[in-house]
Amino acid sequence: MEVEDYSKIYQERQKKYRPFAYAFFGDLLILVVGLLIMIKFGADVFLLQIFGFVMMLGIFVSGILLVPLMKCPKCKKFMGRDIGKFCAYCGVRILPDKK
Ligand SMILES: [Zn+2]
Repeated sequence: MEVEDYSKIYQERQKKYRPFAYAFFGDLLILVVGLLIMIKFGADVFLLQIFGFVMMLGIFVSGILLVPLMKCPKCKKFMGRDIGKFCAYCGVRILPDKK
């Protein structure tokens, strides 16, 4: 039986969503480093809260924007964080073979 190949479509999608992934991890990094620096220099609690809130919001929003990447391009079922070569539900190819 021929396996439907969605790896190209999926790769295109990954490319399109890459800025959100950068935003997600970048934001996370800024949050941690920023908080550490602010605590070290004894920043105001109110300032810490504002900073934490804004950064968390950024992480939350970029995380939500990344959700479609975790779904199968064909059956739209949630594939989870670990995406395999094939969709566990409908069996189409998600990732190409490594060369
Ligand atoms: Zn599927």
